Amino acid sequence: MQNFEQHSANSNLDPKPNAVTDQQVLIAGGGHVGLSFALLLAHHGIKSTLLEKNSYPEIGPEDDAKRSHYLDSRNTALSRRTVQIYQEIGLWDELQSHACRIDAVQISEQGSFGRAQLKKEEEKVESFGQVMENAWLGHKLLLAAQDEPLITLIDNADVVAVEQQADGVTLTFNYYDGSEGEQQLQGSVLVACDGRDSTVRQLLGISTTDYDYGQTAIVGVVETSMPHNHVAIERFSPAGPLAVLPLTDPEGDGNNKYQKGYRRSVVWVCANGEEQQYLEDDAHFLATLQQAFGERAGSFIKAGRRGAYPLTRVLADRQVKGRCVIMGNAAHTLHPVAGQGFNLCMRDAHVLAEMLSEQVKQGADIGDKQMLQRYEKARQSDQKRVIRFCDAVVHGFTHSNPAIKLARNVALVAFDKLPNIKPLVATYAMGLKS
Ligand SMILES: Cc1cc2nc3c(=O)[nH]c(=O)nc-3n(C[C@H](O)[C@H](O)[C@H](O)COP(=O)(O)OP(=O)(O)OC[C@H]3O[C@@H](n4cnc5c(N)ncnc54)[C@H](O)[C@@H]3O)c2cc1C
Repeated sequence: MQNFEQHSANSNLDPKPNAVTDQQVLIAGGGHVGLSFALLLAHHGIKSTLLEKNSYPEIGPEDDAKRSHYLDSRNTALSRRTVQIYQEIGLWDELQSHACRIDAVQISEQGSFGRAQLKKEEEKVESFGQVMENAWLGHKLLLAAQDEPLITLIDNADVVAVEQQADGVTLTFNYYDGSEGEQQLQGSVLVACDGRDSTVRQLLGISTTDYDYGQTAIVGVVETSMPHNHVAIERFSPAGPLAVLPLTDPEGDGNNKYQKGYRRSVVWVCANGEEQQYLEDDAHFLATLQQAFGERAGSFIKAGRRGAYPLTRVLADRQVKGRCVIMGNAAHTLHPVAGQGFNLCMRDAHVLAEMLSEQVKQGADIGDKQMLQRYEKARQSDQKRVIRFCDAVVHGFTHSNPAIKLARNVALVAFDKLPNIKPLVATYAMGLKS
């Protein structure tokens, strides 16, 4: 971990960086989006300082095998577009040893006849995306950010105040790793990646439009009696949607009790208040999955560690205010059913990094309000489309009305048979359309 004292000597606490060449981006929040955005900026030669409230572990490349779940215990389906972005910044080679290809996607509903299937050969694509453990992604992002001279990482730093001036932005944070207390940093632009309950968003007085799904996602790893064969399965049950995704077989991480090729990630959604029974009781969890899922994957025979995530859609009413941008879950927290949230954040981050790079090339201010507003506008249609898509999937499959159920089964059959719809949806689900 880079050390704060080292970097204060390194000019990050200097007074206002007025010169265009001395511009830096302040990033509040160092989860997957904050770290990825800092790496995208560095790729364009732009300096950033990232403040993370929690403590990062002391890690080096030698810790690959025993990586801990310090950032997250979930697994993420990375779209092809996200993979392309990591390729572009030279990180994919590091990441791909723990990426599991999705070659086919099956969609079905419990107790219904409708079923649809997307196959990579038919859609003429290399794959529909890659599934990766968040712990691995976070570990590699952190290592890359630590090694990048253009990124200053400050953990144990809780952002508590934001003040905007005509030519910059000042961030105040409580620094917990010693006796330093409150500290300040100055930058040209502030990008808040501090999650669903974003402090920065609140400090800026940006309101949100929230919707409580009344559901909790249970995520975990299971072993099935049938190999995954790189097939992702989306199943809709009366309790909620269920996604079963193929996973790689990590070796030497203390988790290699699974048979090679049979390890899968599960996202199971239940009503709020029911989660404890699924978290605590392996046998009950496996039996419930089996009932909801049928024999599509064979038997569910082993369950690993699980986590619970209450599901609320949180949309910031605006994403730019002055020199500040709201990004990641702080801007839009979505239902995980379609695996779109992080992929959408990565497209936002990619576009903003390119726009800031263009400003630098022109010798212009990277906190220019008009340019930031152009960014917000440019991202609107992709964001709206994804939000609508996720909600349509969630609400479309939770109606128990027999007529609606019949209609969606007919729709699934039609989807499976009509040649022109599948490539469109496949392209969309892969995040390539933006
Ligand atoms: C069950 C589930 C499954 C999902 N699966 C997928 C999937 O398959 N594909 C997909 O694309 N997306 C998926 N998502 C969505 C994805 O997980 C999110 O989009 C992503 O985690 C957002 O990351 P983030 O960095 O914006 O937020 P976070 O991960 O919440 O990170 C915010 C960071 O900011 C820090 N922070 C908070 N406050 C402060 C402060 N005051 N000062 C400094 N730092 C602060 C926090 O400590 C944290 O590290 C899933 C979500 C869920 C719930």
